[in-house]
Amino acid sequence: MSTNIGSSLFTLSESHEMLRKTCRDFADRELKPIAAKLDKTHEYPTDIVKKLGDLGLMCVEVDEELGGSGLDSLAYAIAMEEISRGCASCGVIMSVNNSLYLGPITKYGNKQQHEQFVKPFLNGERVGCFALSEPGNGSDAGAASTIVKEHDKTNYIMNGTKAWITNGYEAEATVVFATTDKSLKHKGISAFIVKKPTDGLSLGKKEDKLGIKASSTCNLIFEDCIVPKENLLGKQGDGFKIAMATLDSGRIGIAAQALGIAQAALECALDYARKREVFGKQLTQLQAIQMKLADMEVRLQSARLLTWKAASLKSQGESYTKFAAMAKLAASECATFNAHQAIQILGGMGYVSDMPAERHYRDARITEIYEGTSEIQRLVIAGNLIKEYSATNA
Ligand SMILES: Cc1cc2nc3c(=O)[nH]c(=O)nc-3n(C[C@H](O)[C@H](O)[C@H](O)COP(=O)(O)OP(=O)(O)OC[C@H]3O[C@@H](n4cnc5c(N)ncnc54)[C@H](O)[C@@H]3O)c2cc1C
Repeated sequence: MSTNIGSSLFTLSESHEMLRKTCRDFADRELKPIAAKLDKTHEYPTDIVKKLGDLGLMCVEVDEELGGSGLDSLAYAIAMEEISRGCASCGVIMSVNNSLYLGPITKYGNKQQHEQFVKPFLNGERVGCFALSEPGNGSDAGAASTIVKEHDKTNYIMNGTKAWITNGYEAEATVVFATTDKSLKHKGISAFIVKKPTDGLSLGKKEDKLGIKASSTCNLIFEDCIVPKENLLGKQGDGFKIAMATLDSGRIGIAAQALGIAQAALECALDYARKREVFGKQLTQLQAIQMKLADMEVRLQSARLLTWKAASLKSQGESYTKFAAMAKLAASECATFNAHQAIQILGGMGYVSDMPAERHYRDARITEIYEGTSEIQRLVIAGNLIKEYSATNA
């Protein structure tokens, strides 16, 4: 069965179509009606996260042997888009648990870590988080200054502050990146799993954000925090590599979140344009409005193809760093563009919270910032492009 999205180039399997429909129905029924309230109250949607868990959406790509849904990256992108179309906050809560928390632990963790830190985090009862950024460095993740030292035979001791951590308040465990020697830059960084709550780990204030307000964001403050040595993820010194690989994969999720916001903004504009009359005509009959709708659709469809291509490359075990960066760049810029145009099409009604357009505008903005800003995506794309060209044109 094909989708309405350039089916000769990209045909979804029946199971992907079914997943898309299930997630879309769930979003229409359970998320769209409450998204505005969650945005206003900043309330973490505990019940919704459990329902996402029941649908297998909190562990989409985790192998079935570990108790996960065992689906591929395209399925993850499809689910993330549909959930984010209903509520972008729910989208980011889902993406952090899937891509940034479970992703690295399933890939680099050992059997015991899988038992302790994967299995209890699959069904939406518990969520995890990912702590890479710091107050002093975000884009330059290799400059990490959270320090970890050997404490005794069985433990490390950790000191430092991680900033902007999504799910920080609710998470019951976190993947943390810390350095044994700051002068070694990225080579000194290792990854650790830290249980929450833990002595020596406290939370900063909940950030008051522009958008995605129902997801919590805060600092994680480590003060002589004891971390068992058995919680080292992968090998010592592999932390930067683990972080970058995790972000490659996470970018597919954020691209899909951006697609969901862009799609929601377009639907909001179409719906309003069909109903609103100006100068005796429907807005949809005005060519100036049609131009805007066309531009929104073109950007959306292009970004979706890039996102699905990145997801398919990942599923096939091919290199996908460049495509994930291109997908995130295109989809996030599309989300901010579509949300901007939606407000313009709605006129005054776009500017007030009675309609969802202004929320989409605020929610869209973060997709150009987290998991690598648009500037960083361009650096990743150009770096890979130059390497590829140089390899074939010595
Ligand atoms: C709501 C929210 C949730 C987040 N969630 C998480 C999370 O769960 N875990 C986590 O670890 N982090 C998280 N982050 C952090 C996020 O990933 C960083 O904010 C982001 O990577 C940018 O880092 P920065 O804010 O330090 O900006 P900076 O790195 O200081 O960048 C400032 C500006 O300079 C530009 N810039 C930087 N370097 C270059 C360059 N070499 N060339 C050109 N331009 C450049 C940037 O693009 C940006 O425009 C979150 C952030 C927010 C706001």
